[in-house]
Amino acid sequence: MATGQRGVTVWFTGLSGSGKSTIARAIETKLRKRGCQFEMLDGDIIRTNLTKGLGFSKEDRDENIRRIGFVSHLLTRNGVIVLVSAISPYRAARDEVRDRIDDFVEVFIDAPLDVCEERDVKGLYKKARTGEIKQFTGISDPYEAPLNPEVHCRTDLQTVEESADQVIGQLEALGYLATAAAVA
Ligand code: ADP
Repeated sequence: MATGQRGVTVWFTGLSGSGKSTIARAIETKLRKRGCQFEMLDGDIIRTNLTKGLGFSKEDRDENIRRIGFVSHLLTRNGVIVLVSAISPYRAARDEVRDRIDDFVEVFIDAPLDVCEERDVKGLYKKARTGEIKQFTGISDPYEAPLNPEVHCRTDLQTVEESADQVIGQLEALGYLATAAAVA
């Protein structure tokens, strides 16, 4: 199948519970249907292997992002569409990855903190509020929103499907994917 794909790192950044993994999974389904070659690098899973042992200090968070960026670069230059979902709270660390990878699309998965906290998918906000978890992004640690992301999804206002389509549309517009009509 001619997918018309080019390698690219699609980097989802945002607060915990904003919807990064959910939207990345919805995109994964769409890419699979198109016969694309892709890989998912999910921050939570990466922290159990590639970056196991790293904590949540600024230094460790930066190292976590650097390692994810390294792997993503290798895959991207071999033509893979890499979906990275990681809070990646520090702008400078994200920009460092952007500078390394020629084909890089930053997707800001945005929802107000109170919405993310209300969702509390993993029960982490509750623990952060009681102090059981320290250095929790949005509560006791900073989140630096992207200034100029290629895509900005507002998950308090859009459905998962709308956000996924918005990202796919931008990948088509930037020439990383052929339009659906062209591959049909
Ligand atoms: P993150 O990966 O950013 O930590 P998750 O994707 O794990 O976030 O969790 C987001 C939660 O919010 C999921 O339970 C998802 O079903 C829910 N959710 C509700 N509305 C939306 C939306 N419009 N977009 C994305 N996620 C949503």
